Amino acid sequence: MEWRRGQTIGCGSSATVSKATCCRSGEIFAVKSVELSRSELLQREEKFLCSLSSPYVVSYKGCDITSENNNLMYNLKMEYAAAGTLIDVIRRKSGELDVAMIKCYTQQILQGLEYLHLSGVAHCDIKGTNILICDTGAKIADLGCAKRVDSESDLTARIGGTPMFMAPEVACGEEQSFAADIWALGCTIIEMATGESPWPNISDPMSILYQIAYSGRTPVVPEYLSRQAKDFVSKCLKRDQKERWTVKQLLKHPFLAEFSYVKNHNFLDSNSPTSILDQGVWNSIEVESETPNDVFDLQTKYLSSCPDQRMTRLLSSSRVPNWTCEETWITIRDSNNEEEL
Ligand code: ATP
Repeated sequence: MEWRRGQTIGCGSSATVSKATCCRSGEIFAVKSVELSRSELLQREEKFLCSLSSPYVVSYKGCDITSENNNLMYNLKMEYAAAGTLIDVIRRKSGELDVAMIKCYTQQILQGLEYLHLSGVAHCDIKGTNILICDTGAKIADLGCAKRVDSESDLTARIGGTPMFMAPEVACGEEQSFAADIWALGCTIIEMATGESPWPNISDPMSILYQIAYSGRTPVVPEYLSRQAKDFVSKCLKRDQKERWTVKQLLKHPFLAEFSYVKNHNFLDSNSPTSILDQGVWNSIEVESETPNDVFDLQTKYLSSCPDQRMTRLLSSSRVPNWTCEETWITIRDSNNEEEL
């Protein structure tokens, strides 16, 4: 298939992602590219992605090699997520998502994880920047750190991912399997609720790893979340992986049990509410939110439906993420191979 490279839409630690257009059909897709000589990780990701098919995992559209500016480029083609990543959405919502959206994205990420885990694949790098938002909602992306849990060599040889989101057993270098994805999901929910990283006061990757591995602490769950939401996150953040809930258990947790508010939500709609001043959000939450706890929490969090009080609350609570700290984060890919510190 002949295609044209468009604007760059993301630069990860291992590759550059661009928008692309199919010359014949005009279809838009995303292409993740790196020089062929440095494409080992991307080829590994391609092997995972081409074998997967789920509405909750970004879809694969092929791969090829091109010659550009005298360089051979390896290209992994995939579905284009027009709304960007979950972190982009959080930014657009002034740094935090409401309970209904957190619930919706959590449900979809869990369904993606259910599919991966049933396929024997641990993702190993779940975090807001690796969740893409498409027209149907959240999809898991970036399988660059993924591993087959049934493969002895995969399981023991590779520890990967992002320190900030690593589970205690991973930070200790013991094991990285399905349970580590659940810990990372708990961290991602904290990102959605606060707009901050799960360990907001530490930016040095080594200190984070030490803290996770040996302090006995877990990330702080925001107090203003509903009782059920807090319980859900606490089940994800059990330090002992044997006590941590599985995808199957979490899908039955009361936090997700009745899930209706965003069923017909247009995830790409630029007219979607963007602030708590939008009365429509309040009306729909009050009518459609299913559990009394959620309604109570939302109401007490914002105190009143009066716009100026909501504005005051918004300004005092808005925590725009400190994205600069990402510069100090590291992605560890493979202890034997690439070091990207
Ligand atoms: P990391 O440093 O997290 O390992 P990476 O090199 O593996 O990054 P990705 O995380 O896959 O690269 O992509 C980098 C960025 O490109 C994403 O954070 C996102 O902003 C953008 N991106 C990736 N895939 C898509 C897509 N399919 N549609 C739209 N944007 C995308």
